[in-house]
Amino acid sequence: AYVSLNGEVIPTSEAKISVFDRGFNFGDGVYEGLLIVNGVILFEDAHWNRLQRSLKALDMSSDIAQLKLRIRTYLQHEEVAKNSAFLYVQISRGVAMRGHQYNKSISPTVFMYAINREVTDINETFLDTISTPDNRWHRCDIKMTSLLGNVMAKTKAINTNCYESIMVRNGLITEGSHCNAFFVKNGRVFTHPADHHILNGITRLKVVELCNELGIPFTEQAVAYSELKTMDEAFLTGTSTQIARIHKIDDHEFDINFKNSITMRVQYAYAKLKRAYIKK
Ligand code: PMP
Repeated sequence: AYVSLNGEVIPTSEAKISVFDRGFNFGDGVYEGLLIVNGVILFEDAHWNRLQRSLKALDMSSDIAQLKLRIRTYLQHEEVAKNSAFLYVQISRGVAMRGHQYNKSISPTVFMYAINREVTDINETFLDTISTPDNRWHRCDIKMTSLLGNVMAKTKAINTNCYESIMVRNGLITEGSHCNAFFVKNGRVFTHPADHHILNGITRLKVVELCNELGIPFTEQAVAYSELKTMDEAFLTGTSTQIARIHKIDDHEFDINFKNSITMRVQYAYAKLKRAYIKK
């Protein structure tokens, strides 16, 4: 297996970074997680737009054209990327003697790897989740490598045999540790607005587009944890998760008839969108 580090494609075991990399010392960096399906990077422009936005938010310069060239070079070397894979791209601020303040003159550390990942048309799972206080800072819209809040939340879920933590801030459901959360009530889809308390997922964006196209009523409004019992359906979206039904949040069970669900309609529409994108 190979990785790409600062533009060089090298065996994983030979990839080395400094102990003074600010990504290591401070979590001072940004990243993207992408899916490659049949050799095509899914919705890549949307990911590059978000990456650019994250870089700007951290006052880092961006050279997306150079990054894309490096990705092409890397993917030519990496066998797994010919089929279906998860592609991780990380840009940390770079190497400097430790000190909280950064200096704009240092060059970033750019790292990427791809691993084999089977991608199905539809994620058929029916997931158990738990609620967790959202302890993160107030710039969750930046896709950055400081992920401790998310790391703690996901681990808590796994330790209780759940797939994901549904995070709650001030009584409102924000999102999962690595997914966006959607709810359906009386045929209307609800999700937290794309403000600074959630990451605006690319899958989320596609679901919003699809609801508009399909004429499914849609409101960007957070659902209160106390309202959960009144919701008919719930689902998660994310690059890795794709779109997956939620079976349970804590003790509340969503007993949905899948065949008549809005979730299923969105899942099928999303599968079609993916297929069309890959063929393009
Ligand atoms: N929220 C958070 C906190 C995430 O980390 C992710 C995935 N990286 C998402 C939502 C989903 O985003 P996307 O659909 O772009 O993968």
